[in-house]
Amino acid sequence: MTDDVRSLIIIGSGPSGYTAAIYAARANLNPLVFEGSVTAGGALMNTTDVENFPGFPDGIMGPALMDNLRAQAERFGAELVADDVTSCDLTGDIKTVQLANGSTYRAHAVILAMGSGYRKLGIEGEDTLSGHGVSWCATCDGFFFRGKDIAVVGGGDSAVEEALFLTRFADKVTLIHRRDELRASKIMAERALANDKLEFAWNSAVDQIHGDGMLEGVTLRDTETGETRRLDISGLFIAIGHDPRSELLVGQVDLDDEGYVLTQPGSTATNLRGVFAAGDLVDHTYRQAITAAGTGCQAALDAERFLADIE
Ligand code: FAD
Repeated sequence: MTDDVRSLIIIGSGPSGYTAAIYAARANLNPLVFEGSVTAGGALMNTTDVENFPGFPDGIMGPALMDNLRAQAERFGAELVADDVTSCDLTGDIKTVQLANGSTYRAHAVILAMGSGYRKLGIEGEDTLSGHGVSWCATCDGFFFRGKDIAVVGGGDSAVEEALFLTRFADKVTLIHRRDELRASKIMAERALANDKLEFAWNSAVDQIHGDGMLEGVTLRDTETGETRRLDISGLFIAIGHDPRSELLVGQVDLDDEGYVLTQPGSTATNLRGVFAAGDLVDHTYRQAITAAGTGCQAALDAERFLADIE
């Protein structure tokens, strides 16, 4: 290996990227981590209490958890750069990565850990009340809404699944959907329609989010008549989809129809030699901090073995 070619570059700084960095640094791979400019730390920087990450019996705030992971990676020698990767060539034996600041880096192996973005409604209050009543993750936050009236926005399988899951905690769950029937599969739709705790706001879109510090309600607009009405709720779960951040990879790394990176069964290896992927960038199903951290660990171990083989 020549001096200017690093062993390992990691793109992304959520639980998967930082965990990969901890493992790779402890294996003496001297990893270089591109964290992103505005969103360093990943999705958990936008939330409050994280109660389901093992090891924190009293819970931990999302940003504090990410600061800990970051500090742990740095402690073992990971080099962290708070900039965005704007393009890359991952096809050859030496991988090339360009940053927004114009610099170029090269490495023998790359771990892709760019996560996925939850789609937003794009209305005022959505970001400021995130973690204060507005959520994108029923598994993460459902527990906080015991005995409350809440709503889920969306009409596909994941929205219905989230709504059904939330009926375990909430008194009433209103499913807000733009159309007059669900897009979800027949079996999911039947389950939803049969659930006593679920109500439906058909032909409805969220027009406004209300609350000062904590969510208090939403204004719904009828998508056919334009009429508006207020719905008082203390939780709003937005389940209108996710977009894996894989734009950089198009034409190089194999992606599925929705843009998630495809990995080989039982491994984090992609179709390209020396390129591994972890976290929500790969994961349609679980999308949790602990699963992202778990696959970040796997990616570092896979990269370490790959690098040992080519030495
Ligand atoms: P992310 O956390 O999304 O991190 C990806 C990182 O990659 C980002 O920092 C981004 O800036 C960076 N990046 C992307 N593109 C580039 C690029 N081109 N160049 C450089 N960097 C780049 N899970 C739980 O287990 N418990 C919870 O309580 C919980 N609460 C949540 C609350 C909210 C509001 C949200 C949105 C999610 C929550 N989740 C929770 C889910 C959890 O945050 C994700 O599953 C997890 O963060 C995924 O980790 P990741 O490393 O794959 O990606």
